[in-house]
Amino acid sequence: MQPRTFAIPMPVRFRGITRREGMLIEGPAGWAEFSPFLDYDARESAPWLAAAIDSAEREWPAALRDRIPVNCTVPAVGPEQAADIVRHSGCRTAKVKVAEKGQSLAEDVARVEAVRDALGAAGRVRVDANGGWSVDEALGAINAIDLAAGGLEYVEQPCATVEELAAVRRRVDVPIAADESIRRAADPFRVVELEAADVAVLKVAPLGGVHAALRIAEQIGLPVVVSSAVDTSIGLAAGLALAAALPELPYACGLGTTSLLDGDVVASPLVPVDGYLPVGRQAVDLEAYAAVAADGETDARWQARLSAVRAVLA
Ligand SMILES: [Mg+2]
Repeated sequence: MQPRTFAIPMPVRFRGITRREGMLIEGPAGWAEFSPFLDYDARESAPWLAAAIDSAEREWPAALRDRIPVNCTVPAVGPEQAADIVRHSGCRTAKVKVAEKGQSLAEDVARVEAVRDALGAAGRVRVDANGGWSVDEALGAINAIDLAAGGLEYVEQPCATVEELAAVRRRVDVPIAADESIRRAADPFRVVELEAADVAVLKVAPLGGVHAALRIAEQIGLPVVVSSAVDTSIGLAAGLALAAALPELPYACGLGTTSLLDGDVVASPLVPVDGYLPVGRQAVDLEAYAAVAADGETDARWQARLSAVRAVLA
């Protein structure tokens, strides 16, 4: 079947985008998602296509668990809205966006304080700076935010480079998680060589699929948090398959992200219940898809993109 293109509005700007686009591909093993971000060229999009082909054509590895604990995701919103997101999610772990361009540390602190209040003392708070700080900024910000959070579970990608992560990690007690340093790096194992991280954030699509990501998880020697790339429930199911196959899963995963999208392509979107998502294949529902189907121009752009990325993979 011809791949289908979707375009789903996002209620809050996240990673600088307000509309999530991608394609849905069906193969003998089931449905798969191909949705590299729009600023990725064909070469950087190649593992995303490899991941989609892997999910469409191969059975996923054996699942060791049938549900996965997930965090709720709090974008760079004000404190009241942040608290609302946490309360409505039912999740015991919250991931809070910090270091947003144009915002201040005081805004990060206020947001994190509100999240801690909403979660209660037993909940876990982690933050993601998406590489937005220099080393010096990170040292000041992490200490202030750790205090506001009453203890952070970890800080994800405080700075852009692996060297900077290592420098920050040597000087703070809060554990450091590497995300962009793994998925956009030529060598995902460099974070281990430089002792730059305590936790590895792995995403199925940029790492080339569930099987490839599982191999990296086995080799990297760090606890793994599986996260989404703001996927539909089709892409999330692949992330859940990876999380289900990991020998150990000490942290909640970043797969509770359907709230970032105003629409989905399955009949029952993967919304966390009591902080968990179920493991298993998801199928595109044509009625749900029709509501978020891309217009002709967007579809043509994606068909061309798919051809270009196929040429890179071939
Ligand atoms: Mg991240």
